[in-house]
Amino acid sequence: MSAMIEATDVARHYEIGQGMFRDVATLKAVAGATFSVERGRTLAVVGESGSGKSTLARLVTMIEPPTAGRLVIDGHVVGEGVHSATEAAELRRLVQIVFQNPYGSLNPRQKIGTILEEPLVINTKLSMAERRDKALAMLEKVGLRPEHYARYPHMFSGGQRQRIAVARALMLDPKILVLDEPVSALDVSIQAQVLNLLADLQEELGLTYVFISHDLSVVRFVADEVLVLYLGRPVEITSAEAVFRRPLHPYSRALLSATPVADPRRKRQNIKLTGEIPSPIRPPSGCAFHPRCPYARNVCVETRPPLYEFEGAEVACHGIAEGWIDPDAGWGESAA
Ligand code: ADP
Ligand code: MG
Repeated sequence: MSAMIEATDVARHYEIGQGMFRDVATLKAVAGATFSVERGRTLAVVGESGSGKSTLARLVTMIEPPTAGRLVIDGHVVGEGVHSATEAAELRRLVQIVFQNPYGSLNPRQKIGTILEEPLVINTKLSMAERRDKALAMLEKVGLRPEHYARYPHMFSGGQRQRIAVARALMLDPKILVLDEPVSALDVSIQAQVLNLLADLQEELGLTYVFISHDLSVVRFVADEVLVLYLGRPVEITSAEAVFRRPLHPYSRALLSATPVADPRRKRQNIKLTGEIPSPIRPPSGCAFHPRCPYARNVCVETRPPLYEFEGAEVACHGIAEGWIDPDAGWGESAA
């Protein structure tokens, strides 16, 4: 089975001017990411603000090309060779994105029907009546009613607006949805409804999801695999079940420590994240997490760890690879 998304050392750099002499510095928002997502599965991408999640989302959505590396989507190599205009358009419609802000992402002057039909006007030759039918069918799919077709975005709650944003993203029958913090702006009580809708749509339509969140607890119920991103690099890629049962990388442990405990009887070692995420303009040497890691040794300062295979997971940590961080005892006892 071939993967729906295959990324190999994918990077996105920005040249940014800084200071009064306008030196140009390179900011590596995504510094090198290797991962894949199987058809019909959900990869969650988690990390603090500034870790490169939205940049990765823009690469997968082909809003921006990678600076380096190879990105293959549904068998097409992104940006390689010259895509014909039609091939590029076909490839684009395969992947759609839903953003965090349900207030900013819908044009307030357009009725819902117009918003939903816009992608069809641009990309298809469907008649007005066909477009309307499709929009009405999609409203029903996302749990809204036919009368909503003629209403404006301000007449809807945040949760309903996110349903509309999802409906719009599905109008061109994409295979992949990139969801960039899709429920982060919603009340907790509404979050579950939208997550359930996404799960139902995934099953019904066979969609592949890249689900981005700074909040691990949200990911628990939607992800098959979890990619933990730190300063533009994956530090752990594993099953969702494994990352909650036994997070390996100290950064994954720290993120999990920050989420509410599901089972309060379970003894957890809390790694508190201290300080800010460093600037990706001048990332720390070696393992970029070392200044904040309670286990860090000299090797961590000197050498950047690659992703190692470790009991079915991939983890970029010297301590785990070399055995001086105990993957089991470390979780439940105090840090060295
Ligand atoms: P996240 O979504 O995880 O918060 P982002 O991908 O938005 O992270 O940003 C990662 C880093 O890249 C940040 O330091 C951010 O300031 C920087 N960055 C993002 N987009 C740009 C851009 N267009 N130009 C310059 N820097 C950017
Ligand atoms: Mg973001």
